[in-house]
Amino acid sequence: MANAERMEAQLKALSLISEQGEEGTTRLSYTPEYRKGADYIKKLMEEAGLTVREDAAGLVWGLLPGTDPDAPKLISGSHLDTVRCSGFYDGQAGIICALEAARMIKESGKPLKGDFEVVAIPMEEGARFPNLTGSKLAAGVLKEADLDLVKDTEGTTLREAMLSYGLTGKLDGVDRSKEKVKAFIELHMEQGTLLEDEGIDLGVVDGIFGCYWKTITVRGEVSHPSTPMAKRKDAGLAACRIVSDLSEHVAKNYVGKATVTCGKMDFHPGEINAIPSRAVFSVDFRSGDKKNFDELDAYLAEKIAQVEKDYRVKVEQEVFSNTPPTPNTPAIMNALTTGAKNLGLKSVVLPSGAGHDTMIFAKIWPTGMIFIPSHEGYTHSPREYTDPKNLANGADLIAEAIRILDAQ
Ligand SMILES: [Zn+2]
Repeated sequence: MANAERMEAQLKALSLISEQGEEGTTRLSYTPEYRKGADYIKKLMEEAGLTVREDAAGLVWGLLPGTDPDAPKLISGSHLDTVRCSGFYDGQAGIICALEAARMIKESGKPLKGDFEVVAIPMEEGARFPNLTGSKLAAGVLKEADLDLVKDTEGTTLREAMLSYGLTGKLDGVDRSKEKVKAFIELHMEQGTLLEDEGIDLGVVDGIFGCYWKTITVRGEVSHPSTPMAKRKDAGLAACRIVSDLSEHVAKNYVGKATVTCGKMDFHPGEINAIPSRAVFSVDFRSGDKKNFDELDAYLAEKIAQVEKDYRVKVEQEVFSNTPPTPNTPAIMNALTTGAKNLGLKSVVLPSGAGHDTMIFAKIWPTGMIFIPSHEGYTHSPREYTDPKNLANGADLIAEAIRILDAQ
């Protein structure tokens, strides 16, 4: 069984490896603090008896060799970087639990057929470089030419940052997309309260929400507020009607399946005494199932046609960005659900509303994700907390699922 106290002590020690002077933990990728954090993880991996390797992009890998060199590999881990003033579970718990699982497997004296690797990944958060950059390098999504194109918030290129971090500025041995991997499993804190509210030990993530952004422009006619209501071509009112009906529709019919947000709306000319001639607003749809995006798109088109008629306006829509949902692999979800049952733990299948490195690895490997309960749902905050027993449950489940998958 996993040692909850040890894991909590390791996470607390890691939390102190931070930029000073701010609340919580701040460890941005490729900084001196990140170097110290990576060195601490390497030390823990060595103590657990793993063979440690830092690749040319700064991902730290700890290897527990299997008995059959031809058997596919199993990998578990998460990100080591944090946002500013973060807590010390986001990402980091996924590394520490995977490490504890590797230690348990090693100490059991019953080796796996396949290699088991624990990984600590940089640049998952968008706090310095664009988010998911570390996993994109490991998955071969970003190539060597991108090192001069991808820049941090200060304009430093990825290659410059790698060189100053002590790496070669090249990507030899980083792309692992051609390797035979049976599973990548990432444990993460739930970024919500479903598990805690329902008293469930663990979540098995069936997929990561996609994100579908649109910009909608409503065109009416500017006129004086004394214009009779029935004669107006009020772009602002029409925009508000679309947003309000769309939100109500999603709230009523897509509970737990999709969300919609209008985070930005501008009126033109934007005067207190002018009926808006133009309204431009954003729509952010999130869902784990692309079918929901298609349905909501159809509803939006219907709503627009109705509003054009009712408010005497013209509406244009434009897709701003479209990231499809990422489903996890059913065989791995099964191993996680069976594993939880074997351990006598209560689990539930749920989606992830936030993005994770798993989204990128799903492009090249079979993937699965475990959520552990988050107390009151705090995330990216020093108030993040999970009971140490949840860390132990998570590590036990990683070890159990890895064994199940290795035996298949
Ligand atoms: Zn995270």
